[in-house]
Amino acid sequence: MKQSSISRSFARSRDKKDPLRKYRRRFYRPGRAIYMDGNSLGLCSRDAKKTLMKHWTAWKRQGIGGWLNADPPWFTLGENLGRLAAPLVGACPDELVAAGSTTVNIHALLSGFYRPEGNRRKLLVDALNFPTDLYAAAGQIRLHGSDPETDLIRVQPADGVLLAEEEIIRNMNEEVAVALLPSVLYRSGQLLDMKRLAKAAHDRKILIGFDCSHSAGIVDHRLHDWGVDFAMWCSYKYMNGGPGSIAFLFVHRKNFERVPLMTGWWGYVKNRQFDMLPRFEPQRGAAGWQISTPGVFSASPLEGSLQILAEAGIRNIRHKSLALTGYLMELFDAWIGTSHDMRIVTPREPLKRGGHVALEHKQAWKICQALKSRGVIPDFRPPSIIRLAPSALYISFDDVRTVMHRLRRIMDTRAYRAFSGRRDAVS
Ligand SMILES: *Cc1c(COP(=O)(O)O)cnc(C)c1O
Repeated sequence: MKQSSISRSFARSRDKKDPLRKYRRRFYRPGRAIYMDGNSLGLCSRDAKKTLMKHWTAWKRQGIGGWLNADPPWFTLGENLGRLAAPLVGACPDELVAAGSTTVNIHALLSGFYRPEGNRRKLLVDALNFPTDLYAAAGQIRLHGSDPETDLIRVQPADGVLLAEEEIIRNMNEEVAVALLPSVLYRSGQLLDMKRLAKAAHDRKILIGFDCSHSAGIVDHRLHDWGVDFAMWCSYKYMNGGPGSIAFLFVHRKNFERVPLMTGWWGYVKNRQFDMLPRFEPQRGAAGWQISTPGVFSASPLEGSLQILAEAGIRNIRHKSLALTGYLMELFDAWIGTSHDMRIVTPREPLKRGGHVALEHKQAWKICQALKSRGVIPDFRPPSIIRLAPSALYISFDDVRTVMHRLRRIMDTRAYRAFSGRRDAVS
C-alpha cells in the first residue's frame, strides 16, 4: 500500500468522488458513533420514518379504510414491496413478496419445495449457515417423519471457516432433493457463487434455495436469470427496514405451478380473498405463499428505505461496498498485519466477498468492547470473530480509516485487556 493512501486526505478525496455520499444525510446516526453493524441491524432513515408515519396517520384517520385506501393500500403492501425490491435481486415483480419473517419463510418454502420421494430424501445445507436455517431444515425433515442425523447433509468447510463450492457440489448426489444455502455466510462474509451452484444443482435434478439475508441490499443478484428455485431474506440488515421488519420470499416463475402447503388466507387469490370460501386457492406467483395479515408497521418503514436503495442503485452500492471493504483490508495490512495474532477471515477476491469483513482474534469480544468505548459499533460472533460492515449508504472512506486507526491503537496498546470477558445477551 502506498504511503499516501494511508493519509486522511486520501480517504477524504475518495469521499469527495463518491456518488453515494449524499445518502448519508438521510440516515440518523445513533450517538456520534461510527456504525459498522449494518449487517445486523441497518440504520433508521428519514425516508423510513416518513413512510412509517404515513401509515400510522392512515390508521389514525381512516381506521379499517386503510386496507384499501391508504397510499399504497395495506391490502397489497406485500406485493407492492416485492415489486419495489425486485430490481435489487434480479427478480420479476411477481416472483417476490414481502411476508412474514425469515425463519417462517424458510419453513413455508421448504414445506412446498422439500418433498422427499423414493431415494431422493435428503436436504443439503452447509455446516456454517446461520443456526435458524439449520434448525428449520432439521425441523422439516422431522415433519416428514425422518431423522436429520441421516437426511440432513451438512457440508463442512475444509479450513473451519470458508466453504469450497466444489465440496458443496461433490455432496449433490442422487439422494439429495433440495439444497438450502446462504448467499453470503454470516460469519466470514464469504459470498458463494450462486449461479454456479444453481446450475450444478439443476444438472443433478436438485432444487436449490438461497437465504440472502446477508446480501440483499448490498450485493446485486440475478435470482431469475440464475434459475434459483426459491429464496428468502430478512429486511432489517442491509435493507434498513427496522428491527424485526417484514421478510422477503422469492419463488421462481418456473415453479409457479408448485403449490404452497403452509397455506393461509393471505395467499388466497387476491381479488376473491374476501369471498371467504372454505377451500384454499392460491394466488399465482410468490404472493400465493403468504400466510397471514402482514404487520403493517413492520412493513411500512421498508417502503422508504427501499426507495433509497432504488435511487442509489444496487450496482453502485455494490461497487462502493467493495471499495470500502477493500480499503479496510488494505489498512489492516498496513497497520496491523501479522503483528497481533489477528487475521482477516473474509476472502480477498471481490467476487467472493459480501458486505462485511470478518477479523479473527482470541480476544475478539474484549476488542469489540474496546471499539465501542472508542465510538465504533462493530459486532461479535463467538468465539472469536469481529465483524465490520461498512454500509455503502452511510459509511465513508474516512469512517473506515478512523475505525482501522482506532483498532490499530487498541491492538498496539493492548487496551482491550481492560475489558470484561462476560458477554451481553445480544452481541
Ligand atoms: C439474520 C438472519 C436470519 C434471521 O432470521 P429471523 O427469522 O429474521 O430471526 C436468518 N438467516 C440468516 C442467514 C440470517 O443472516
